[in-house]
Amino acid sequence: MIKTVSILGSTGSIGTQSLEVCEKHGIKVTALAAHSSIDMLEQQARKYSPSVVCIYRDDKYAELKKRLADTNIKVLCGMEGLCEIAVMDESDIVLNSVVGMVGLLPTLTAMEAGKNVALANKETLVAGGKLVTDLVKKKSIKLYPIDSEHSAIFQCLQGNKREQLSKIILTASGGPFFGKTYDELRAVTKAQALKHPNWDMGNKITIDSATLMNKGLEFIEAKWLFDLEPEQIEIVVHRQSVVHSAVEYNDYSVIAQMGVPDMKIPIQYALLYPDRMECPTGRLSLTDYGKLTFDKPDFETFKCLSAAIEAITRGGAYPCLVNSANEEAVRAFLNDEISFIEIGEIVLSVLDKFEYFDINDYNDVTKADTMARDYVRGIVSDRK
Ligand code: MN
Repeated sequence: MIKTVSILGSTGSIGTQSLEVCEKHGIKVTALAAHSSIDMLEQQARKYSPSVVCIYRDDKYAELKKRLADTNIKVLCGMEGLCEIAVMDESDIVLNSVVGMVGLLPTLTAMEAGKNVALANKETLVAGGKLVTDLVKKKSIKLYPIDSEHSAIFQCLQGNKREQLSKIILTASGGPFFGKTYDELRAVTKAQALKHPNWDMGNKITIDSATLMNKGLEFIEAKWLFDLEPEQIEIVVHRQSVVHSAVEYNDYSVIAQMGVPDMKIPIQYALLYPDRMECPTGRLSLTDYGKLTFDKPDFETFKCLSAAIEAITRGGAYPCLVNSANEEAVRAFLNDEISFIEIGEIVLSVLDKFEYFDINDYNDVTKADTMARDYVRGIVSDRK
């Protein structure tokens, strides 16, 4: 069992829940990194006494260093700091719950150094899927998924033969706009899009859940994590978020993983694997739910979802392009620069805009990322 962990993205929703899990099971936190919340990072540093902390935003570095001057904690900043934490000898595992493309390089750096990774950062696999899976093989390291759906699939694979798996069933909550028509989505406000029925998450991922881009990204991640063809992944809308996903074997036996919608269960499974211990969460009572429902997704209305699936079916840089375009489009939506449905229109248009090219190294990822962001910024500024 692991004893020490470095947490990248410690002040976010996954980060804070990971710290709860560490506290519960006596896992020592060796390093913490956050994007910009220095108040919370300072608090966490005092409570968990890591040997190193990192603040991503350079302009917050001096202030954090000053605040922690009375401690022995080393203070780092920027991408360099994240990567330094990613390779620390003292950590048994690196938990990466950074939001966005920023998370890819620290994951690759950790893996190059032979570190096992517990992964909550979606972009790592969406943008760098091939690079990451090649490294997992080359370095014989373990990659534990933290996302509830991928953790569910990972759990359903235990004790069975991978080659006898026929497909996976990736469940989706459907978000706040399930059942709405495309026309009805024209008037969606930011406040409506930021209200998710089952999960409490950061703004970026909450919008991604409303557009179903989140499920599109998870589709791409599942392809890489479990070495599947796109045709082997079925998305099913399951409003209650109790069945976290399922797998089907050659005999058509379907095995699902269930639990209350609480990320601490998958976080804990990634950190304690293969052990199962009491989790600081509630128990599932199926009779409290009474009914569980399953529906087909609406690919016409939720264009981000179709765009993501088309991107991974085409391969090459398309998943990366679509993901970066989405990040920029969501940012523009949160800045009141574009409407809700325009996010999907912009993301889908990326597939026509760019020619196919391969991702062979990190520079190719950066190239695709810049191309997609410039393209979306161009669209947004033409508007003004
Ligand atoms: Mn998920």
